[in-house]
Amino acid sequence: MARYTAARCRLCRREGIKLFLKGERCYTDKCAFERRSYPPGQHGPVQLRVKLSDYGIRLREKQKVKRIYSISEKQMRKYYDMAINMTGQAGHNLLQLLERRLDNVVYRLGFAPSRIQARQMVNHGFFLINGQPVDIPSYLVKIGDTIELKEKYRNLPQISENLEVRLQKGIPSWLELEIESFKGRVKALPTREDITMPIHESYIIEFYSK
Ligand code: SF4
Repeated sequence: MARYTAARCRLCRREGIKLFLKGERCYTDKCAFERRSYPPGQHGPVQLRVKLSDYGIRLREKQKVKRIYSISEKQMRKYYDMAINMTGQAGHNLLQLLERRLDNVVYRLGFAPSRIQARQMVNHGFFLINGQPVDIPSYLVKIGDTIELKEKYRNLPQISENLEVRLQKGIPSWLELEIESFKGRVKALPTREDITMPIHESYIIEFYSK
């Protein structure tokens, strides 16, 4: 899958928003966006003054969300197709599908400090879903699913630290975490209110529906 792996901070500057792609670094004064919040490249500061077309606004919104969840264009398109065929608002459905991805849930529960690291852990088979090994980052969790770190990884000090940090920041209301047993559970499906990043999901639906 084509995935952007270099200079992630440039993506934040490109989208004009902190995308939180680098874990704890994003919360420190080492964050590149805090120091240079204009687009990367020679003409970056000038680009700030360029007015985007309606198409450009929608394109950027779609790119931003793809980058937040670190997914490919093909995957994004697949979620759009699923979202418009579900009941309810297509934009909300789209965000809900993205939030239900296993790599996102591992990140939200705090096992990893970023979605990118969460995906690596899932790929390397760190987790059991309902007691069964699952190594597919795009697995969509359901209500009642349990997400459990395999016993052999529980002694890794970095994971306990990540969980502690996440507990301090707060677990989303649709999830619960038992830190002692390294186990999370899906209490409900995420709602629009659970997604706090500034996202205009209707722009993404409009982008694909043209
Ligand atoms: Fe973005 Fe800042 Fe994190 Fe870099 S450190 S990925 S600029 S939020």
